[in-house]
Amino acid sequence: MAFRTPIDLHTHSSVSDGTQTPAELMRAAADAGLGTVALTDHDSTAGWQEARAAASDLGIDLVPGMELSTRYGWKSVHMLAYLFDPADPALTAETERIRDARRTRAEAMVARLAEDYELTWEDVLAHTTPGASVGRPHIADALVTRGHVTSRSDAFATLLHPRGGYFEPLYAPSPLEGVKLIRAAGGVPVLAHPATRGRDNVLDPAYLKALVGAGLAGLEVEHRENTDDGKQYLLEFAAAHGLIVTGSSDYHGAGKPNRLGENTTTPEALERICALSTHSPVE
Ligand code: AMP
Ligand code: FE
Ligand code: FE
Ligand code: ZN
Repeated sequence: MAFRTPIDLHTHSSVSDGTQTPAELMRAAADAGLGTVALTDHDSTAGWQEARAAASDLGIDLVPGMELSTRYGWKSVHMLAYLFDPADPALTAETERIRDARRTRAEAMVARLAEDYELTWEDVLAHTTPGASVGRPHIADALVTRGHVTSRSDAFATLLHPRGGYFEPLYAPSPLEGVKLIRAAGGVPVLAHPATRGRDNVLDPAYLKALVGAGLAGLEVEHRENTDDGKQYLLEFAAAHGLIVTGSSDYHGAGKPNRLGENTTTPEALERICALSTHSPVE
């Protein structure tokens, strides 16, 4: 199928830590001049239906997706997944487990913060929609409302930082398990922003090769947080292993400065992603 351009394959709605509903996000994408947008909420597909209806009304194309949380040792690794079966039992069981862990972990962080700051769990819930994938961004919003920090970025740099004194790690499967789950659900895994800490801190090459062996299809190279030397390394690795290269905004509405369409993916890359999907949605 031919997709409209330009193409942005990484965005978040209020189903996770974006600030707009899926329908509002699709409207913003159309207003920004995008032809195709992927909705990739953290560990949830709950926004797909609403986004699909809105995209169709607006005359833009939707690529259904998700950003799966995974973990490699202490490192949080985000895995984009496209065009999979949202009802796949193994993948839905795992994402449910992660969303439950997100809530428990956020409650634990709030309990620790509440020892030193005026803050309640209700404050955090006030910044989420029912059933949302709860994360540190929602705690950040509650901290801003209470006046303890000035912005999400301020919160991440201080109280919510892993060394800020209140951090709790999040349960997540390994990247290898993630790739296998996504593939088994008919989907196409693409490693999100793999070089935010420079070329020397990308997942080690032997492990990356194991991911490719298990079906990792691509690397998100054009992302504002990948460093220049990191992007160069990713391009070389992608060329050497025949991986698809994508570029995206990682838009979060008002939650981050990232602008829709600030990076884009070529139609050829999206065609390759589609060709690898083995899930045919029944419309
Ligand atoms: P969590 O999933 O709870 O560990 O929180 C990580 C999420 O916070 C990521 O998905 C990012 O989108 C978001 N995030 C990380 N750093 C910042 C920042 N400086 N400002 C706003 N959002 C951020
Ligand atoms: Fe996020
Ligand atoms: Fe991410
Ligand atoms: Zn993201």
